[in-house]
Amino acid sequence: MLVTKLLRGSTILGLNKLIRKTSNYKRSLVVTNPSDNSLRDIITDFAKKNSKTKSDFGELRKELLLNKKSLTEINVDYFIISVLSSTNDLHLVENYIEYLKNNDLEVKTPVLGCLLKLYNNYYECGKLTADKHVNILNIYKEILEKYDNLDASTCENLIFGLVCTSDWKKSLELLQITKLSAKPSNNVYSLIISKAFENATDNELGWTLLHEMVNEYKKQPNCKIFISILKSIQNEADYTKQIETLNRLLSFIGEHDIVISKLVTNELTKTLDSMNLKNSQTQISFNGKCENCNLFLERVFISNDEFKLMRNTFLDRAIIHKDVFLKTNPKELENFLKYIDKHAPFHCVVDGLNVAYSINGKLSPVAVCSVVKYFKDLNMNILLIGRKHMTRWPNEHFGYIKKNCKMFLTDNLSQDDPFLLYAALKSGPSTHIFSKDLMRSHSYLLGDNLKLIFKRWLQEHLYSLIKVKKNGKILVKEPCKFNINAHKVEETWHLPFTENYQANPKDSYEVPQNWLCIKLPNLNK
Ligand SMILES: [Zn+2]
Repeated sequence: MLVTKLLRGSTILGLNKLIRKTSNYKRSLVVTNPSDNSLRDIITDFAKKNSKTKSDFGELRKELLLNKKSLTEINVDYFIISVLSSTNDLHLVENYIEYLKNNDLEVKTPVLGCLLKLYNNYYECGKLTADKHVNILNIYKEILEKYDNLDASTCENLIFGLVCTSDWKKSLELLQITKLSAKPSNNVYSLIISKAFENATDNELGWTLLHEMVNEYKKQPNCKIFISILKSIQNEADYTKQIETLNRLLSFIGEHDIVISKLVTNELTKTLDSMNLKNSQTQISFNGKCENCNLFLERVFISNDEFKLMRNTFLDRAIIHKDVFLKTNPKELENFLKYIDKHAPFHCVVDGLNVAYSINGKLSPVAVCSVVKYFKDLNMNILLIGRKHMTRWPNEHFGYIKKNCKMFLTDNLSQDDPFLLYAALKSGPSTHIFSKDLMRSHSYLLGDNLKLIFKRWLQEHLYSLIKVKKNGKILVKEPCKFNINAHKVEETWHLPFTENYQANPKDSYEVPQNWLCIKLPNLNK
């Protein structure tokens, strides 16, 4: 209904213009020099002295406006209310808004947003009284009547308030409005999804939105979401349903490559203990064996079809779309392609410059010679991608490399990754890459479907140098061959966890240090 009202008579472009206007309005409220702590100190001192008393906000407002040029009639109230909110003193915040109303000063929408967020804090701690629900719905109505269009930030603030009330499903419409102008934030999803998991009848809605945030908006679900799902399992009376939801949750975590935080792990352990299910924190050895249950984790597996699809996509992008070799001149690319056609397949492709600088960042031609020798001793056909300036290395090193492997030297300004990937992918599914560079940027070129396959393939084939010993031999970090995502072997789940939640986790090919080993009953037996 609301979305229809907003869209009526206005194109998306027109709507965006209006939305942008609202957003700019919000930005103008931000104090230009937020690092000026003296401003905050004035307000926090005031809050300490005046909490629970009839406060003289007029004096505070006047003092700030008189002394501080960065505060004006436009932004002073938002600044005061955001600092008062950070003291978590609802009484003062409400009184300040009352003061504005009594003195015919405009209560701006972002000011109300601060109040709604504070209501949400109180709600989370179980301290929000029922009369505040009415306030929240009144603010919601007031803002809806005031504007034809809502910006994403206002929608988010309203959602903070609405989820504290029984009318929380009005948030769904605000979520749709948000999507018209922006990617919904992690906060928005987390608030609505957690609420959906509080009500047994709305759990499916929670799952739908959870998939949406991960698949469409690439957001990493935060701890609050997982904890709300675990609490819903704790509150479920039917044991079979509890096990089904646990399996569903763990599968979701594994499929989306999610590493849960310690906080979620603790709630998961609590849930499992309450169901008398075996679980233990554990470590996994380099060959994939769980120290707790002695099972071996699943091996990384890419089917031939998956490999072919990934390879063809990459090669097409490299040659047809030309968005892979961006820093390469056409002549160099032509020479490279001819060279690969003539000499491939290779057993191993070595990132020459990366190896040369991989020990303490200092140039070491010896390191490159040692890596070449390492693979030569294994009778491998090696391709080394290097730079033209390597020809200036001492002949004892450059001569050795030239004699013992194939070598393609790029212009000094070219980027090496595309050459390495092209040569390795062209060579076939079992070719190794020797480099410390994890080539993250290239996985995005392959699109979502192939990103995970690319990650698995690299995890299985990426070698790197740990150190060169005094006798010239090298210590090599070998690729980890087992699945490092949460997954099930027989009836036992293993899932990695980390200390803290990360909103933007980096791709990792390392064996995680901490794991949880969970035995779930097989309901089909
Ligand atoms: Zn185990």
